Amino acid sequence: MAATRAWTTIDFEKDGKQSDYMRVPFSSDKSAYGWIPVPMICIRNGDGPTALLTAGNHGDEYEGQIALLELARTINTEEIRGRIIILPALNYPAVVSGRRVSPLDEGNLNRLFPGDADGGPTAMIAHYVETELFPLSDIVIDLHSGGKSLDHYPVALARPGLNPETTAKIRTLLEAFGAPYSVVTTGEGGGAGSTLYAAAEQHGIPALTTELGSGGTLSARGLSIAANGVRRVLRAYGIAPSVVTEDSAKTKFMRSLSRSGSVYAPRGGLFEPWVECGANVVKGQEAGLLHSFEDPLAQPLKLVFEVDGVVICRRFPTLTERGDCLYSLMVEVS
Ligand code: ZN
Repeated sequence: MAATRAWTTIDFEKDGKQSDYMRVPFSSDKSAYGWIPVPMICIRNGDGPTALLTAGNHGDEYEGQIALLELARTINTEEIRGRIIILPALNYPAVVSGRRVSPLDEGNLNRLFPGDADGGPTAMIAHYVETELFPLSDIVIDLHSGGKSLDHYPVALARPGLNPETTAKIRTLLEAFGAPYSVVTTGEGGGAGSTLYAAAEQHGIPALTTELGSGGTLSARGLSIAANGVRRVLRAYGIAPSVVTEDSAKTKFMRSLSRSGSVYAPRGGLFEPWVECGANVVKGQEAGLLHSFEDPLAQPLKLVFEVDGVVICRRFPTLTERGDCLYSLMVEVS
């Protein structure tokens, strides 16, 4: 791959707590030779494993952003054995505008991996993570939430792994993080191979992602899962062996049903959901109504679940267009 055009003043091999930016060149009307300041903190204390911790990959998902800001501020170099690299606002232009995607190029960072050294700013961020940060990393955690368009049950998610060895390592990482549910994704829904955690999987690095909250606001429960989960991982891997954190209940392993378990809007309208996230549903159960505003006297369309499962997310806004995902399901695995 081509060399990155982004740079930083951080020396990743130096001990101590350093704060600078991934400096992403961006030439605009306002700033011909300027760069986008993507915040980056490196905390290193001698040899040991490296954890790469990211949030704000989507700008309107907040639990991870706050958990990582808090971690970067409060954890001391002396507590570390090895290295933590923290990017709490990874798609910085999206974060500062409160949007899922970047206002500069409409780039959805979690659909642009492995990125492009000479692409738009969002593809350049992906490429920097891919070529500069992954080679330094032993584990990767990318914290997401439902954002403005989804109500999401708090879960950790991971890819199945490329071989039995990485599958076992990913399972160890999920158990250490300790979310209530750990969901193995099939790759047919969401971002498939173009996400940060799928890109990490391609490098053989154990990686997990999360969905922790809803509707572009902050969930106290989601924030607690993020903050404690990251600390549990740092403790379990010996990177912060004595860090204080809450113990979790044993995580329950699930499998996402993606397309086969999703209810999509067959047409536009106003969505009236009848089922909450986390609920058990069965095949044929009524999921809600879709009201037509174009044909006011028509009966609303009744939506049903096609398979049994647990509701992992539902659409948050009421206004709905054909093709919107209204519900997604997960099922327990042994
Ligand atoms: Zn996200």
